[in-house]
Parts: sequence; structure tokens; C-alpha cells
Amino acid sequence: MTSLNFSCLDDYDPNALPVDRARRIVLDMLAPVTGHERVFARQALGRVLAADVISPVAVPGHDNSAMDGWAVRHADLAEAGEMGETRLRNIGTAFAGRAFDGKVSRGEALRIMTGAVLPEGADCVVIQEVARVEGDEVIIPPGQRAGQNLRRAGEDLKAGEAAIHAGALLRPAEIGIVASLGVAEVSVRRRVRVALFSTGDELCSIGTPLFPGAVYDSNRYTLWGMLTRLGCEVIDMGVVRDQPEALENAFREASACADAIVTSGGVSVGEADFIRRMMAKLGEVAFWKIAMKPGRPMAFGRMHAGAAGGGAWLFGLPGNPVAVMVTFYQFVRPALLKLMGVDPVPEFPAFPARCVEAMKKGRGRTEFQRGILFQQEGAWCVRPTGAQGSGVLSSMAKADCLIVLEPERDKVSPGDTVMVQLMTGLA
Ligand code: AMP
Ligand code: MG
Repeated sequence: MTSLNFSCLDDYDPNALPVDRARRIVLDMLAPVTGHERVFARQALGRVLAADVISPVAVPGHDNSAMDGWAVRHADLAEAGEMGETRLRNIGTAFAGRAFDGKVSRGEALRIMTGAVLPEGADCVVIQEVARVEGDEVIIPPGQRAGQNLRRAGEDLKAGEAAIHAGALLRPAEIGIVASLGVAEVSVRRRVRVALFSTGDELCSIGTPLFPGAVYDSNRYTLWGMLTRLGCEVIDMGVVRDQPEALENAFREASACADAIVTSGGVSVGEADFIRRMMAKLGEVAFWKIAMKPGRPMAFGRMHAGAAGGGAWLFGLPGNPVAVMVTFYQFVRPALLKLMGVDPVPEFPAFPARCVEAMKKGRGRTEFQRGILFQQEGAWCVRPTGAQGSGVLSSMAKADCLIVLEPERDKVSPGDTVMVQLMTGLA
């Protein structure tokens, strides 16, 4: 493959990389995985469409009523402003799925249900609430508009038109559209394969007793969760000790079978040196100090193909549990969406909110605090979750958003507006 050539990038300082710049570099280097498969509509949920879904039919297929009411000829009705009502003859009923066999002629009204095909002759529907029935006559008040309360054939989709475009992440609405066209199968990109391991001599896997000084490996679980919700195929490679040989084997194995490798730990200054030497052998990897907190150190690059083929993108995340989640959301998630073929890669959902507590902040870096959103007098407000240490995973569990404090800011006073990134419901 061609060289990644980080050094050719404009404005590139690996030791002080702004968050947006780092995200841009990552996104610009990646291209979607190739390969797709056909799946049934239901199996397509959460997958990425590989080819446009072309509508074989018009939706709706016929002009039909949007309301329960009376199908009439507008020309028969009294004009708006006239005092007179219009009396029409009730000629029957049209039901959804059971059309009226006949037409609406001068002076006639047809009772019509929502979704029923509009009969010939009629050109508007008067809602039942304003009409009065007297014997076999219907009395319509003045002021009705031509064409009102109708859904026109092809108004939603025209036959031959792309109903959903390649690159769409298929959500329930898209699955519904596929079904509304009578389409049973769609072409989706293959799932992105992500190999995952944790590094650290202090890590213990759940199910084994903690030895003195050990901590349970939680990163592999949060990462597994975030990757699974994104729809990736996760290859869990467990805990790898801080030993060159073990790490080298793990990287070789991962790059033979995965599109991307996500690791945690081992990229901080104290540990990075031997990893750096090893990486120089296995691929092209940049060790970044990103102007952010938490999550300053991060490795990003490309592992070469080995004898068994492969080659994979590498995201070496820091070890601290909160830093893992924050860097995943800021860099790895958009990168994986791009690899998955999502086009365009969506922005992280964010909006301004009023912060109700003071916060300290260092200048020159983006800080991500964990926040809880609530409403006060109709406005969205946010409160930090408390202890914000980058190892305090409970601050993440309490939070439903990240409060993003931009580099120029040096503090937050109560009442200040801050941007929040919504984590609720995030894949
Ligand atoms: P490191 O980046 O490897 O220096 O790790 C930074 C901190 O994160 C240390 O306190 C580690 O014990 C902790 N840590 C690293 N990996 C994990 C993990 N997989 N699960 C929980 N904590 C971790
Ligand atoms: Mg470590």
C-alpha cells in the first residue's frame, strides 16, 4: 500500500494536535470496506446500504384520502364567504382496501375512509367532523379547498426513483420504506471486522481472582459494547501482556483477520517507547498527543499485511477507562462509520445547553466533561456528573452527554452556554 505520509500533512504537529484536525486526518485516510451481501429487510437493520434501493412502484400507488370524511367535487361546493351550505346526495362508502365501484357525479358525495382510493370525479375530501348527515343527504359547510385532505399517487416516492441511497445506515424508517416498496432483500456492505485487545501487566480478566495490584479489565467490555452497537463484528483477543513478543504476535494476528484493530493502554509516554519501536516494524503508526482531556495520547496508523495477507487500521487508545470511551466517540466511531460505508459520516449529535455549575478548565485543549441533561423552564440545562478523573468510569455511567469545552475557554461560570454531545441512544 502507499505510504501514509503523516509528515506531508499541512499544519501537522503530532505533539499538539487539535481534536478536529485529528478526526479529519483519520477520516481522510480511510476508505469504506469493499464487499457486500444481500440480506432480507429485517436483517438489514443497522447495516449500511451498498446500492440505491430503486422504487419499483409509486408510493402511494393511488390518489387516496388522508382523512375519514366525504369525497366531493369542489366545483359543486359553495364558495368561501358565501353563507350557503351545499347539500349533496350520499351515494355510498369507500373503504381502505375496498374501493367504491363507481364515480362521484354532480351533486353527489361519497363517504370515504382514510387510505381509501379516491373515486373518479371527486377532487377533495371534507372531514367528517364538519359535515352533517340528514337522511340520505350530506350538508357541507362553505370554505373547502380543492385538493384538500388528499394524498397523491407518487407523493412519497415515484416509480424508478431511488428511495434510499447507498451509504444510508438503515434504521427502522428505512426498513419500513423497503417494506413499503414490496422489496424483500437489499444489498448491504459487509460488516467491518474489528480486533480488540487490552494491554497491561496489571489487568485481570473477569472470572479470575485479582492478584495484588491488579485491576479488572473493563475497557474490553466498554469497547465491545460500543463496537457491537455500531454493528461491527468484534474479534475479542483478550488481554495481552506488556511484553514485546506477546504484543507483536497479537498485532500480527489481528492485522491478518481484521479491518481495524482497537487496543487500550500502552500509548502513554512511559510505555510508548518499546511499542513505538515495534510499530515501526509492523506498520506506519503515528503517536499523537492530542490537545484534549481526557485522552491525550493516542496511536493511529496502518499495520502492514503479513504473510497471511490482511493489513488493518490501528487505533491505540489510552488505558484510562473514561479516556477510552471519549477517544472512541471522537475518533474511532466516525472512522468506523466511514469504513462501514456510511456516507456522509454524520456529525456527533450536539447542541448548546446552559451549564448550571462552575467548571475549571485548562486553556489550549478541548476538555470533555461528563454531563447530565435536564430541562428547566423549557430550556435544556446541563450539570457535570461530579468527579471527572479519567479513570472514574462511574462518571460515564451517570452521564447522558459529554460537555465539550473548546480550547479558547478557560472556565465555565454558572449560566454559561456550553456545547453538549448527546450519548443517549448512540450506536
Ligand atoms: P496506560 O495507558 O496503559 O498507562 O493505563 C492508564 C491507566 O488505565 C492505568 O491506571 C491502567 O491500570 C488503566 N487501565 C489500562 N487498561 C485498562 C483496562 N483494560 N481496564 C481498566 N483499566 C485499565
Ligand atoms: Mg498500561
